[in-house]
Amino acid sequence: MALGVAPAPGESFASWIDRLGADMALPPGRVADVIGLGREARANDGTPLLFGVSLPPSAALAVQKATNVSVARLVAMQLSVFDGTVLDLAGWDTHAGLARVKRKQWALFLRSRACPACLAQSGGVWQLWWRLGVAVACPVHKTLLADVCPSCGVALRRGTAATARVLSRTLLIPPLTCGNRTDWPRSPAGCRQQVDAIETQPAPGWLVDLQIAYLNAARGAQMTFGDHRLPPAEWFQCLRAVIAMTRATASYLTLPGRSGLPAIARDAWGADVAASWRRSVGQESARSLPRSAALMAALSVFAAPVVLARGDAELADAIRPVAEAIAVARAERRQHGDSNSPLRGVRVPPLVEQARMRAVPYRVGVVAHLAPFTSSSAYHPPRLGFQHIPQVVCAEDYQDLLAVFLPGTLPRTGRRYAALALARLCGATSWPDAVSALGIPPERARALGGFASFRIADPQAFLRAVAVLAERLEQRGPVDYTARRAALDHLVILPPEAWRRLCGQARVVATWPRARHAAAWLWTELTGGYWEEAPALQEARWPARPLGWARLYRTFARTIPAVLAGSLRGWGTDVLAEAGIR
Ligand SMILES: [Zn+2]
Ligand SMILES: [Zn+2]
Repeated sequence: MALGVAPAPGESFASWIDRLGADMALPPGRVADVIGLGREARANDGTPLLFGVSLPPSAALAVQKATNVSVARLVAMQLSVFDGTVLDLAGWDTHAGLARVKRKQWALFLRSRACPACLAQSGGVWQLWWRLGVAVACPVHKTLLADVCPSCGVALRRGTAATARVLSRTLLIPPLTCGNRTDWPRSPAGCRQQVDAIETQPAPGWLVDLQIAYLNAARGAQMTFGDHRLPPAEWFQCLRAVIAMTRATASYLTLPGRSGLPAIARDAWGADVAASWRRSVGQESARSLPRSAALMAALSVFAAPVVLARGDAELADAIRPVAEAIAVARAERRQHGDSNSPLRGVRVPPLVEQARMRAVPYRVGVVAHLAPFTSSSAYHPPRLGFQHIPQVVCAEDYQDLLAVFLPGTLPRTGRRYAALALARLCGATSWPDAVSALGIPPERARALGGFASFRIADPQAFLRAVAVLAERLEQRGPVDYTARRAALDHLVILPPEAWRRLCGQARVVATWPRARHAAAWLWTELTGGYWEEAPALQEARWPARPLGWARLYRTFARTIPAVLAGSLRGWGTDVLAEAGIR
């Protein structure tokens, strides 16, 4: 037989048969007859058994004989080429085994995704890999793959809404047409949607990187996971596990704002968090194949950096959000007397489990509760920038709102911790990030390492109190502490005339050491910092600093008359106002 259409590189078997059909003006069921997919290889409905999944040797030989296309090329068009890498088709050749394979393996056995731009360029060649479960983004066009036909609402290449694709002996479906039969007999020709005209959304770069890595694994490449080299099948098990872990704990995770995910993916995430499968035991579970490319893309926000990490340290960082979400989900279940693991049924490979343990050693601090707190509907994100947060929460606010959560903690430690917690609430991604966001000198920050392990009995209530603090700071201005620090950095001593005038009003003797202490006191008041960090008290800026400087300052601060304190604060606010700073 002379064929007008040879299989294209990477083409799926179904695609090739459709293109043959277009060329021969024959419906696919007739093409299957002509090319030698004989009766014995068909089910009662006319579909060749395992069509597109695997080609039995006898059928492959028959098709080779009829078409002159080699068995090797015919086999390369079947999903079975991925057996042993990203698929495990063991047992498919028995009836029960096939049902299990279809239920458990991450492949689209009865439908396909598609890149419309690739279809347009190739004139309708459907890639085989578009039928893999983690087919998400086109590496060439950097767009999400399309799942569902926008006209008929049915998955691409499914055939009919009710039952899966049957190779029709009467209906010819052009390769660039949807052709799903959803409205028969009113439109017997099937859905007319042009598949190459379906609109797509841009895919972020990290998602394309994940897609390329997954396709390398699918083709049998050696992979890495942290510091380990892994066979492709084991790497895929790690990817699958992290996606399932993400899905199981999604309500404790927040999609990062700067992920580049299109809105369709964020919507899919939100819908899956609210989906009914979470409330009932059924076919669908966290370990199931996420149905759409959009949902797979959203879940991959957390999984991609884990499976693409260069080294174990990066791996532990990457898995931390999911690891903390699992810990919080567990703690919450225990509180409700539910002993079921949130990961029930998810098979977690030892390498993933080890990475999770490294990321969250034992118990989780307050930050693990941040995402659930900020994603709750009652929560309004503060309109504060980092510049509006003091380096130390002032003593009154701390006593009012937060001291109760930190029994046995020195107030000065607790006040610093509260400022950093507020920075976390305002978007700092880690404790070191919070330290630098608040402009705290790095040499001071070393002592703050322990904050990551602070334990608070009721983290939710603590975060609510921090949010109340944020509201207070908003209502008070907000104050730009960064600008204040910059403006007052030169204030190492009160200017002589001003100092004499203020002291005269308060009936205090205006001495030089006091002028310096007053500068330090004012800086501490206005910038919300620790007094030890005041420019006026630094040895480098105080050439004749006496040995007892700290004790002397503390005495000054403790005994400053209220009148002087009030007029000093007024003078400082005027200086700032002149510089246009509030
Ligand atoms: Zn493409
Ligand atoms: Zn359609």
